[in-house]
Amino acid sequence: MEIKRRESHEIRVRSLAIGGENPIRVQSMTDTRTAEVASTVRQIHALANEGSELVRIAILDSKDAGAVMEIRSRLDDAGCFVPLVGDFHFDGHRLLEDHPACARVLDKYRINPGNLGFGNTHDEHFTRILDVAIANGKAIRIGANWGSLDDAVKDRLLSEHPQWPMNRLLEHAMLRSTLDSAEFALAHGLPEDRMILSAKVSHIPTLIAIYRALAARTTFPLHLGLTEAGTGDAGIIASTVAMTHLLSEGIGDTLRVSVTPGQDRGAVDPRIQEVRACQHILQANALRRFVPTLISCPGCGRTDRVQFQSFVHAIETYVVDHAADWRTRYPGSENLVIAVMGCVVNGIKEAQHADIGISLPGRGGRNPHPTLFVDGRAVGILRGANPQQEFIDRITAFLDERVSS
Ligand code: SF4
Repeated sequence: MEIKRRESHEIRVRSLAIGGENPIRVQSMTDTRTAEVASTVRQIHALANEGSELVRIAILDSKDAGAVMEIRSRLDDAGCFVPLVGDFHFDGHRLLEDHPACARVLDKYRINPGNLGFGNTHDEHFTRILDVAIANGKAIRIGANWGSLDDAVKDRLLSEHPQWPMNRLLEHAMLRSTLDSAEFALAHGLPEDRMILSAKVSHIPTLIAIYRALAARTTFPLHLGLTEAGTGDAGIIASTVAMTHLLSEGIGDTLRVSVTPGQDRGAVDPRIQEVRACQHILQANALRRFVPTLISCPGCGRTDRVQFQSFVHAIETYVVDHAADWRTRYPGSENLVIAVMGCVVNGIKEAQHADIGISLPGRGGRNPHPTLFVDGRAVGILRGANPQQEFIDRITAFLDERVSS
């Protein structure tokens, strides 16, 4: 089943087109102190290399704002042209006015209508941000978040609908806050094609209801994300469930998966994990491809379990670690299907559609060596002492011969 994307208009952020017919973009956010230029540049570079197409940085104070030019310049010098999004809360109006170079260098501003103040103060702060954005030709993401919901909107809905349960009230308050802010920005002169909306909550059914309503009522591109998704696998699974619901309905033009880092950042940086999770979600929904598909059988009584698990792990690690590099060196490598099967009895037939694969001998096989197959046909036996490395070498040779541009 092909997913029909919701119609949205296109916006440009630096050279990146978002919305419309463009691919759904992968976004990430640094967790370094922005003013610490070296570590921030290093993390942005790593995220961009992994495939993050936009990187958001927090601008908390003058030191952060003052560091943005140096960050941009070092990235450009290193050939990293990923668009940078400045994340502003509370005093974004002042920081953008006081640091015109920062306002100029950032490619998009992300603001939260719930953090702009109240009443006339809110309107004044918002207007000042809009003036800077309009003067610099920048796009803005209006990103409502239920942790900092606009109190005025919430209070108004509470007085109008005192019988509503809290979830319904929050859902409508988030929606109203986002739409009111978009209307305010348009009325003040921000062009329609410079705005993107998001409305993040951590309760999945509420998130889905809000985005469905936003999708039905506007044509602005929508940025998807589940806020406070949690740590590790639980966070990634929660985001996957939420994003998949919306993406399968054609909703979403950019996305970010949020993972709370553990005390130990582990073998793979959680920020890199977030980018990979976005890519896997888009790939699993058949919306984009980033990484070769690794297929493997579940194993059974014929499997030599230790050998099989070690083989699958080694090949998976190799593919995941090289996928970003392959996208540049071997355009089209993301369409590759690689198989690791537990035995030769059914292995090759079960994985006939793989481009390249291996069937391990399994338990009690007559041939003690793995069989290599290409395009569904056995093409050789790997007799060396290190068949994992041999298979990796064959995959590399396959990429050189068949996928090289
Ligand atoms: S490929 Fe072989 S080892 Fe794997 S599940 Fe099928 S029969 Fe079992």
